[in-house]
Amino acid sequence: MNSDKDKAQELIRRASKILVFTGAGISTGSGIPDFRGPGGLWTRREPVLYGDFIKSTRAKQDYWRYKAETFPAFMAAAPNAAHRALVELERGGRLLALVTQNIDSLHRSAGTHTDKLVELHGSGLYAECLDCYAWVSMEEALEKFRADGAPPQCACGGWLKPAVVMFGEPLERESLIKAFKAAEACDLVISVGSSLSVEPAASVPMAAKAGGKPYLIVNRGPTAHDKAADIKLDGDACELLPALVPEK
Ligand code: NAD
Ligand code: ZN
Repeated sequence: MNSDKDKAQELIRRASKILVFTGAGISTGSGIPDFRGPGGLWTRREPVLYGDFIKSTRAKQDYWRYKAETFPAFMAAAPNAAHRALVELERGGRLLALVTQNIDSLHRSAGTHTDKLVELHGSGLYAECLDCYAWVSMEEALEKFRADGAPPQCACGGWLKPAVVMFGEPLERESLIKAFKAAEACDLVISVGSSLSVEPAASVPMAAKAGGKPYLIVNRGPTAHDKAADIKLDGDACELLPALVPEK
């Protein structure tokens, strides 16, 4: 009998329009911790809510302080073998879209084409102005924050906000549309390194499954979709993904 790994390889070999959905677990191999794992951020810290960030100077400061603490790890991180395997999948002509919840931009730095990439939760490398929507680099915004501890402002006087989706903030409409279109058009969906517990993001792979597409999950530990998966591979994405991508 074929192992689940063999079956997963076969699914990928037969597919030509793969939707890949990734989460924090694909980047732990690059040194960026996930939030829910043991010792993860949400076991130690209450997230700042979008509504509070908008209303309160204290909440803005809390959020910027958290960004100031976590940004150096982002800057130091480089793509790993799992990110690179997805670039190989794209080069082999099998990738329809890569929808990520990650804000670390490591899929971009690995070489995933921006046309294929949907960053559902934004990018942690930038901050945006709440008034004029101008974007500045996160480094520049943090430099302002570190100078006096006041929430940084845009040249226009508006408040800057990290260009990531906060808890309680709606996702960008265009990104969601692109992601759900890919769920409809794909012929295989693969979730990698996600607990599949954050909505509406997790509904993207589930929509593909509901549309009758085979569903492969690659994750270390349980996910909220394990029962829906056709195949679940439990383990390190950095080891499993490169072994799954067929040679050209
Ligand atoms: P999550 O933390 O809920 O789940 C991550 C999953 O990956 C866990 O089940 C964990 O056991 C698994 N995992 C950890 N390392 C792995 C590895 N090497 N190989 C395979 N699996 C591994 O993450 P989520 O589902 O992405 O939801 C977290 C939310 O927080 C997202 O919305 C995301 O925007 C944000 N976030 C982003 C980053 C990032 O950009 N790298 C990091 C942390 C959190
Ligand atoms: Zn502005």
